[in-house]
Formats: sequence, structure tokens, C-alpha cells
Amino acid sequence: MRVTLLGTGTSHGVPSLDCMIDDYARCPHQVCRKAEADPRHRRTRCSILVVVNGLNLLLDTSQDFREQMLANRVRQIDAVLFTHAHADHIYGLPDIRSYSRGGKVIPIYGSSPTLYALQKSFDYIFHPPAFVGGGIPQLAPHVLEARGQVEGVEVIPIPVEHGNAEGCQGYRIGGLAYLPDVKVIPEGSLALLEGLDLLILNCLRPRPHISHLSLAESLAYVEALRPKRCLLTHMTHDIDYEVEEPSLPPNVRFAYDGLTVTV
Ligand SMILES: [Zn+2]
Ligand SMILES: [Zn+2]
Ligand SMILES: [Zn+2]
Repeated sequence: MRVTLLGTGTSHGVPSLDCMIDDYARCPHQVCRKAEADPRHRRTRCSILVVVNGLNLLLDTSQDFREQMLANRVRQIDAVLFTHAHADHIYGLPDIRSYSRGGKVIPIYGSSPTLYALQKSFDYIFHPPAFVGGGIPQLAPHVLEARGQVEGVEVIPIPVEHGNAEGCQGYRIGGLAYLPDVKVIPEGSLALLEGLDLLILNCLRPRPHISHLSLAESLAYVEALRPKRCLLTHMTHDIDYEVEEPSLPPNVRFAYDGLTVTV
């Protein structure tokens, strides 16, 4: 199984428009300014691509979906798994139409609240008018709230708490777990995360936040779950990997856009 971190930023992305508008005057460690010159500081909105059994499974369609597909030359999408319906995780969806040309229907999976919110957000896709001009992707929604099959691949949804996001869930595929937006991993979900080869977990910033894990909270989960490796994602401009990375445990690293890992 091969995993590509398509985007590793929080909802604003790095560099953020807020920082650019103020000419980076208030950017805490000048990460947004550095990102202009060094691509390892750039963070597009969160998503991963999992290549397994010859299938391309996409986890979320971030607002930067189109750029991510171009940057990684992704030529095929066989299914999409959605974690939740916050804007940064779903608003690239319209561009998926290029992958459903010729009437190909792309199955999409998520919890029922997530699929409901998606269908409300993209009414023109899910309830198209009688005359269709051809600009609409063909999608087949499937509720996935318990261990199940996605195109023949076993997938385990991992329910998590993340602020007001109803039905938010990460996913486990074999030795990989992807939890990009979490504040609390409930007891029952912790039990589904034993014996991981690779945990991809959110880590907003060093300071605490009401609906996202801080660096210390993420590291506490890593210590409890003991995955072989952990990559931290969904990061703000508060995290400068050059400054923070030397203090991480040896099995934990900050992810960056375009990083590809074999599991
Ligand atoms: Zn997010
Ligand atoms: Zn900034
Ligand atoms: Zn979110």
C-alpha cells in the first residue's frame, strides 16, 4: 500500500491569505513568508491518496484538490472516503468531474451526517436539473459507519470528536489509520487503532485549541497507541518543522505536501 500526503495544512492553508494581506507582519514564526521560497513550508488543505490493490482511494476532496491532482499526476480515482463535511475537506469535489468522464460513476463513502451535508452543499450534483450540460460528476453515495468493503478493500471507520462536526470519522485500512481532524478519540475508537504501522494524525499547533489536537495532545495519543510511525498533519503556520522537528520522538515526523510512504 502506498500513501501520498496530498495536503497537510489546516483550513487556512500555509501561506495563509490573512498573513499575506498583512505582509506577514503578524505571522508567528514567519513560516508563511518562508513558504514563498521553500515548498516544504507550503501546506495545502488536508487530503491523502491511498494506492492499494491497484486502486486509487482518495480521502477527502480538499479545496486544493485540483492543484493536488496536477502536482501528483493522479490519473484515476476509484473511490472517495470523506472524514467530515467542513469546507476544507469537501470543496474540491466539483473538479472530480474530470475523473467520471464517459458516464463512470465514482462511489463516495462517509457517515450519514457527512453525506447529508455533502448533498446539501452540492445540490446541483446530487439533484441535477433535467437538462444536464455535462459539467456534473457522477457520484454514488454509500453510508459507511462500520467495518465494510470499499471496492473490495476492507475499511474501518474510526468515529472521533471534532468540535461541531457531526459524524466525523477517520479511517483504518490495514496498518494505516488516517485521522486528520480530531480533538478527542473516544475509548471505543482507541481500540480500533491497535498495532498500526502508520498513524496519520492531526496536530494543529503547539497552543491548545477547542476542536483540534495541540502538539502535546497528539504526542500523548501517539504514546498511548504506539504506532510504528506517526506523521502529523493539518498544521497551521505556528509549526515550523525546522524548529519543532528535532524535539519529536524518533517515530514521529511532521508530514509535508507530496510526501509518499509505503505501508
Ligand atoms: Zn480540517
Ligand atoms: Zn502565517
Ligand atoms: Zn474540520
